[in-house]
Amino acid sequence: MSIIEFHKTSKIFGDLTVLDQVDLNIDQGEVVVLIGPSGSGKSTLLRCINGLETISGGDLIVDGKSVKAGSKSLRAIRQEAGMVFQQFNLFPQMTALQNVAFGPRQVRGASRAEAEAQALALLDKVGLRERAGHLPSELSGGQQQRVAIARALAVRPKVMLFDEPTSALDPELKQEVLNVMRQLAQEGMTMVVVTHEMGFAKQVGSRLIFMEHGKISVDGDPREMIDHPPSERLRDFLQHV
Ligand code: ADP
Ligand code: MG
Repeated sequence: MSIIEFHKTSKIFGDLTVLDQVDLNIDQGEVVVLIGPSGSGKSTLLRCINGLETISGGDLIVDGKSVKAGSKSLRAIRQEAGMVFQQFNLFPQMTALQNVAFGPRQVRGASRAEAEAQALALLDKVGLRERAGHLPSELSGGQQQRVAIARALAVRPKVMLFDEPTSALDPELKQEVLNVMRQLAQEGMTMVVVTHEMGFAKQVGSRLIFMEHGKISVDGDPREMIDHPPSERLRDFLQHV
């Protein structure tokens, strides 16, 4: 069953068409890796899925709810799609534990004890239980990004969206974040991942999508697409990532 459905979905900023009548279905449990040149619409596609951007045309259905159906439905969709950004975006004045506990307290009205117990379990899952009391500034980039993943998971999303989650990290720190993502995928989480990590795409991705100018230009098996790029432009792109 599809959990995300784009139906001729467009996004227009002024006179710039950023998503051009995209048709795309993503099934539960799929790990979709999204690649493409800068400006091709990857971030916008993710941001539409969790309602950070409104769509301009067509329709977009997340877990059976249309993003066009109004604010109540949009609020539900935001909770169903957790997002992880390139720049971590943690609350700087809160500890790791407080960052992870924040969502459940705000969104679900969970008690402090319940939210903190769950936060501790999530920090444990991403290997950071012993860092629970630290501020983001006291953590490495890789640790901060793992806290950000735990924070996104805390509201129990059905889909996780990752926008270049390792691009701001030094090479030696990328792997600890990719390992957490790999583990999530193995647990069956539905994921849409914008990344340049083609090793991750081949190993973990169930599908690879190449975007150009707001359209999906190739959609297929990651190993097949990377080893035998079906278009000149994809081959060219892969040579430069
Ligand atoms: P990608 O993530 O593939 O690099 P984006 O989705 O960020 O691409 O951007 C696609 C295009 O949309 C770019 O040309 C970008 O400048 C433009 N764009 C993105 N967000 C906005 C916005 N809020 N207002 C105007 N233009 C935007
Ligand atoms: Mg982007």
